[in-house]
Amino acid sequence: MATVHRLDMGHVELPESHPRAADGTCPIFCFAVTTHDGTVVVDTGPRAGHPFIDELYAPQVRSIVDVLNGEGIDERHVLAIVNTHLHFDHCGQNYLLGSAPVWVTDEEVEAATAEFYTVPEWAEIPPDRRRRTVDGELIAPEVRLLHTPGHTPGHQSVCVDTPDGLELIVGQTCFSCAEFEGGPPAITDMHDESWLEVGQASLDRLRSLSPAAAHFSHDLAVFGR
Ligand SMILES: [Zn+2]
Repeated sequence: MATVHRLDMGHVELPESHPRAADGTCPIFCFAVTTHDGTVVVDTGPRAGHPFIDELYAPQVRSIVDVLNGEGIDERHVLAIVNTHLHFDHCGQNYLLGSAPVWVTDEEVEAATAEFYTVPEWAEIPPDRRRRTVDGELIAPEVRLLHTPGHTPGHQSVCVDTPDGLELIVGQTCFSCAEFEGGPPAITDMHDESWLEVGQASLDRLRSLSPAAAHFSHDLAVFGR
């Protein structure tokens, strides 16, 4: 039986240059999916102690190990990490989860080589830990990955079969629960304007699954609850 746990990792302050600067603070949620075989961690949050990120985003973050333990999950039972994408606030603590394999798309690894895309040393995945996501692949009992590009070229989302029905970890396919409920994704959240149509198709794909619940990286609201 799979269960989705939301992990409250803390928050960052959005700088003036950010399209959502008016929001001020941005919460960061990662997720743990507990299954019969072990735990799949979806995103790991930012790390503190990077001069540029600290200066620009002032992250107030918890350790993923502490947050997992707080949910009663032993970090040594992490079966796999899934990075929805490789922006700095989604992959900064991969290193704390030892040797767990990390699932990312080829498109995302390629995108992350661009300047100013992320913190390269956080996004770097040792070759022996790297797993390439195949669209629709089951990576653990009840845990399936879907390519949902738009926010980034290689963004992916996670489908979890739970006793209560299908739960989606949307990541940043769209920013908010309200956006998931209808309309297009915000153009400012797309990789660039040319990705809007692709992002819309990804969002429609997730909506068409009619999930019982859907969870977002930066919105406290949960669709369906
Ligand atoms: Zn992002």
